[in-house]
Amino acid sequence: MSQFDSFCVVDWNSGNDTGPKPRRDAIWAGAVIGGAAREPVYLRNRIVALDWLVETIDGELRAGRRLLIGFDFPFGYPAGFAERIVGSPSPLKLWDYFAERLIDTPKQNNRFDLAGDLNRKFDGVGPFWFNALKRDIDRLPRKGSDRREHGMTERRAAEEGQPGAFTVWQMGGAGAVGGQAMTGMAALSILRARFGGRIAVWPFEPLDAPVALVEVWPGLIDPAVRACADPIRDRAQVALLVRALSRLPHDRLTEMLAVDAPEEGWILGSGFEDELLHHAMPDLMPPRLKNDCFALPPGIDWTPVDEALARLRDRLHPVVSVESGVPTLGAVLATDVTAARANPPAPNSAVDGYGFAHAVTGEGDQLLPLVPGRAAAGAPFAGTVPEGSALRILTGALLPEGVDTVVLEEDVSTDGARIAFEGPVTRGANTRKAGEDVAAGAVVLPRGRRLAAPDLALLAATGVTEVETYRMLRVGVLSTGDELAEPGATPDPARTYDANRPMLLAMLTDWHMEAVDLGHVADDRSALSERLDRAARKVDAILTSGGASAGDEDHVSALLGETGSRADWRIALKPGRPLALGLWNSVPVFGLPGNPVAAFVCTLIFARPALGLLAGEGWHAPVVVTVPAAFSKRKKPGRREYLRARLDANGHAEVFASEGSGRISGLSWADGLVELPDGAAEIAPGDPVRYLPIAGFR
Ligand code: AMP
Ligand code: MG
Repeated sequence: MSQFDSFCVVDWNSGNDTGPKPRRDAIWAGAVIGGAAREPVYLRNRIVALDWLVETIDGELRAGRRLLIGFDFPFGYPAGFAERIVGSPSPLKLWDYFAERLIDTPKQNNRFDLAGDLNRKFDGVGPFWFNALKRDIDRLPRKGSDRREHGMTERRAAEEGQPGAFTVWQMGGAGAVGGQAMTGMAALSILRARFGGRIAVWPFEPLDAPVALVEVWPGLIDPAVRACADPIRDRAQVALLVRALSRLPHDRLTEMLAVDAPEEGWILGSGFEDELLHHAMPDLMPPRLKNDCFALPPGIDWTPVDEALARLRDRLHPVVSVESGVPTLGAVLATDVTAARANPPAPNSAVDGYGFAHAVTGEGDQLLPLVPGRAAAGAPFAGTVPEGSALRILTGALLPEGVDTVVLEEDVSTDGARIAFEGPVTRGANTRKAGEDVAAGAVVLPRGRRLAAPDLALLAATGVTEVETYRMLRVGVLSTGDELAEPGATPDPARTYDANRPMLLAMLTDWHMEAVDLGHVADDRSALSERLDRAARKVDAILTSGGASAGDEDHVSALLGETGSRADWRIALKPGRPLALGLWNSVPVFGLPGNPVAAFVCTLIFARPALGLLAGEGWHAPVVVTVPAAFSKRKKPGRREYLRARLDANGHAEVFASEGSGRISGLSWADGLVELPDGAAEIAPGDPVRYLPIAGFR
């Protein structure tokens, strides 16, 4: 049972109260509760820390979640120590011994005296050393080199492989763990007494309780901590280590937990440093967008659609960090993914039938004796099929030794002991070769791929359980305009129900982006500015609608202008009107027209590919099919035109009767858009036209 729902890591400390202000060399705790990372908690002394632990454990027990808590001090001493002190090799008895004798308050504790008491149970001098007090303590040397003939080994087996780890005998000094171990074990004894059988201690007890206490050591993930540059090192350590533990695949955690160290204990993850470190590394944030990322070439009045798109393609890049996890629908791959194993992994039968060696068959009537038994999918035939014999074999069964060819059941007659069929048969007939679908190590999916249902099948079949993906792009949707009201909120005909917001939010969800509802804001510059400020803190991109033209009320455009990053896009496009694009606190803002039809078309044509780039998908051109027109239309040169369209029963594109851009019913009626070229065009029924299915923007 190594499946945990929540994880904590505690950086313990044996010193006195560290005051109200978060600082280093204090007790820090990191937590990932039910999959959600919490801010690290500063715990000023051990009493406060114990309270926090009790509260956290209580909460997780109530929620029915399994909790793993790591502590950064040794859970045991070198072999033989416990026996000498408590008359048993059980480290847990030793914990209780410390709990009884340690007098621990936020202002002081008797750990040095206790170390002296313990030393007096040994011959010679030691094994404990270091005394931070002014007064001398009998038999507790101040220097490690003054120890002799105490008979204990210097390090636990767990520390042998970790040259940076300190020994439990050193009771103080920078980095020492002796005091932490003593005060920590005493505290854990108190927790055990309180929670009884609901806590199990690794690796001394089987982990069949809801809460597991384990020993960890932040030294294992040191490069990640250094990459973090947090001035409070302990805070970074607990945050990164708990994140690493929570992200480990279950089977790897199970392997890490499978150690045999019943007396000394072990450091969880020792021997798995690379893997822990991989999961601990802080997110690498992509660079910010440049202020001129939306700028169009100067001097051009109306920019053709393709030129505007080429600009976006050039200037935008992913703005989301990379994380690893199980493959999920809609996630965007951040790296090429290679097959962990071949599909199929071994040669097998493609049909239900009979298998044999091709070499002995020939032309005309074939008669082969049957070997007893059969080969089925998941239940391979263990033996060898002798040359000249045949074996019953079912679809998906591995080809046994001696079989390279299969004849279909329908082409065979049998009496149960022999089969007869007509030759010749082709060598390898009705079999699948190992790796004929995918070879092991082959790239199965490219970076930038947004995972669809069949991709999940492919990854599963090729044994890929973890992938690097971009964090889901968060896109905010904001409606602007004094005239807008919530649907149904008022009968006033002067008010317009906000139709864009639910539409845009749904489009984003459909594209597997995280749609964030930013609400509606009136035509009020300071309110809008404040709303954008708040939004920019939580989203990666913002879509606004309304207020995008150069009229008096167009505050979106005016505000973006103040940032110095605005580009007014006068695109030769119908339906549309100038788009305002810009960065608000580095977050790209797409100022869409208010008119729902224009908002819809501009979102599909411009925002969709731009958001794809920001999300890590690369450039995503819509699907276009050429179909016969079911309409006639004459258009003037100058602007590209998108008509609401759908395919009729014959697969011809029909267009919505009215081109009026206020007609929302036409949006709902349409399944796609017909794209008419920038130049003049005269379309008659039957002429080929470009049809863009809305589903093709996904
Ligand atoms: P604007 O771009 O603000 O000039 O708006 C153009 C037209 O679209 C006006 O008739 C607005 O009332 C209308 N409009 C703006 N925002 C929305 C919205 N969220 N839902 C429905 N209609 C809107
Ligand atoms: Mg408006």
